[in-house]
Amino acid sequence: MAWITEHPPRTVDLDSCVTCGLCLPMCPTFRLTGDETASPRGRLAAITAVADGRLTVDERFDEITSFCLQCRACETACPSMLPYGEVIESARAEAVAQVPHPDQRLRRFALGRALAGPVTMRVATLGAAAMQRIGALEALPVVGGATAGLRPLPVPLPSARGGAWGPRDADRVTLFTGCVADTWFTGIHTATVEVLLAAGYRVEAPEDQTCCGALASHSGFGDDAARMARSNIASLTGDDPIVVNVAGCGAHLKAYGRYGDDGGDLAARTKDVTEIVAEAIESGRLPMMSPAGERVAVQDPCHLEHGQRISREPRILLEAAGYEVVEADPGGLCCGAAGLYQVDHPDTAEELGREKADKVAATGTTLVASANAGCEMQLRRYLDDGYEVLHPVEIYARALRRGGTGPAPSP
Ligand code: SF4
Ligand code: SF4
Repeated sequence: MAWITEHPPRTVDLDSCVTCGLCLPMCPTFRLTGDETASPRGRLAAITAVADGRLTVDERFDEITSFCLQCRACETACPSMLPYGEVIESARAEAVAQVPHPDQRLRRFALGRALAGPVTMRVATLGAAAMQRIGALEALPVVGGATAGLRPLPVPLPSARGGAWGPRDADRVTLFTGCVADTWFTGIHTATVEVLLAAGYRVEAPEDQTCCGALASHSGFGDDAARMARSNIASLTGDDPIVVNVAGCGAHLKAYGRYGDDGGDLAARTKDVTEIVAEAIESGRLPMMSPAGERVAVQDPCHLEHGQRISREPRILLEAAGYEVVEADPGGLCCGAAGLYQVDHPDTAEELGREKADKVAATGTTLVASANAGCEMQLRRYLDDGYEVLHPVEIYARALRRGGTGPAPSP
């Protein structure tokens, strides 16, 4: 049996691989193993073999495709502009549909249902906060590994959903609140709102938006991801920019064109927060702070650098905040966070995480900027306690506050 899902890998994409191998040096799993089947070209060959009827979707196919981090570094290197991210997501959906996995139902519930429900998320987060306070969260099987490096969870839980800030007649932007970002990373939302208000925007966060669907899509639950996308398309109407402060969510929202014209419109409105803030700094809507003689190490999340081709903007924020920017790992490999990757491939995730943390430590600076929640957790997991890992917008907001523009409003 070849493909059975509604949206299998497209032949036109598979045919665009000219097997040049330029993607191989960029691929973390190939660099670690030297194995062709752990490279983008090797994985595409396996997917093409199934499409041609020479192989079936079996345990080996599942292994080959699940070992991919979906970091999309190969896309940046590819001269054929092969949309590898979409191809591998479709391939994972086929593997999930055809190869039984013991915890499939649980994963599907967690990624396809629980993340999409604000009530489930809040109940789970309250439980996690209680466990975190008594130091028991990291000891839990599976959950402990997935939540290592998490910020201290605040209780009661704040939420930006349903919020509106700033004058009604100002230029409006929509804040995408996300699922775990809304309950686990509220400091990033607070800083985002604060900076956008200072830039003169009105910020609104519609109540009925939901998880972007990236984790479900990366894990092969394409139907659940499509349901979440349709819900967001119905909720995030209008023509104002949609501001996202988690690189993984932003990359996924920018790929909503796969869900039709309305999805394409939403994708075109989506901006990473560093894009809109950098634009405001460059146009003079936001100030440049004078250099304070402090340094910050910048890490490039894959879903910002490769998924959205954004690398200049976070540096603009950090320099405008008065910092000297130090490159942590230019042109480097994925940090190994990658959603549930550390649950499925803990050794590889750890090897990549330690490698990235060592590169950050080698810069000699203890303040680190990362624009993706998963990378932030991975860095904290492998750095000593003396490091502070924040989103670039939090670092800019902090400098703005020190510059005398007043305290952060609470969402
Ligand atoms: S997405 Fe990343 S891990 Fe997967 S094949 Fe491409 S470069 Fe390698
Ligand atoms: S760089 Fe692109 S065309 Fe070349 S082998 Fe890799 S995926 Fe194929």
